[in-house]
Amino acid sequence: MQRSLKVVTRSPEETRILGAALAPTLLPGDVLSLSGDLGAGKTVFVQGLATALGVTGRVTSPTFTILHEYDGRYPIMHLDVYRLDSFQEIIDLGFEEYFDPRAVVLIEWGEAVEQLLPRRHLRIELRRSEDIEADDDRLVVFKPRGEDWVRKVLAMRDTAEALLDAASPDPSTGSRFEVVTSAREDGPRRKEA
Ligand code: ADP
Ligand code: MG
Repeated sequence: MQRSLKVVTRSPEETRILGAALAPTLLPGDVLSLSGDLGAGKTVFVQGLATALGVTGRVTSPTFTILHEYDGRYPIMHLDVYRLDSFQEIIDLGFEEYFDPRAVVLIEWGEAVEQLLPRRHLRIELRRSEDIEADDDRLVVFKPRGEDWVRKVLAMRDTAEALLDAASPDPSTGSRFEVVTSAREDGPRRKEA
């Protein structure tokens, strides 16, 4: 049984709020894998998260350098594996060494290295809305792998709900979040070389 949590954000700020709401649940050794096309909001999410973990400098996509390291409450390793063309290149890089147990590890395009991720991790998928009228809508789906992550994601939801309501009170009642239960797990995926 697989549980995931869906929410639609309506601005970059709302996506940052999700990252900020997840931050207090994180501990060293935690690994997050972010998926979604260019411009989906992966880096924006990381910005909210990193700031809430006490990072004061600028947080930008490490697309060309592969790794950015920040000092927050814990060390943060921010990876973007988009430019790694082949799985072999990732292995050659000694990718596993990035999983520093003292750090929180955030990987953009993490699906490309799915097989190298620890079994317990959080997958976050971001997608532009199909609704052309709403350029700033993003569907964000949290897919916890492991019970710890289910707990963290639900804690994130409660915090995010309060923060989102405070930022822009929504006249419609009810939660913006939807828990989706599916029977089977997604298989391992990777970007084709
Ligand atoms: P990625 O890292 O996935 O390639 P970025 O986070 O760098 O994407 O960029 C996302 C872009 O989309 C930014 O320019 C941001 O301002 C814009 N944007 C618009 N609406 C949203 C939203 N709801 N959430 C996140 N970003 C949004
Ligand atoms: Mg990015």
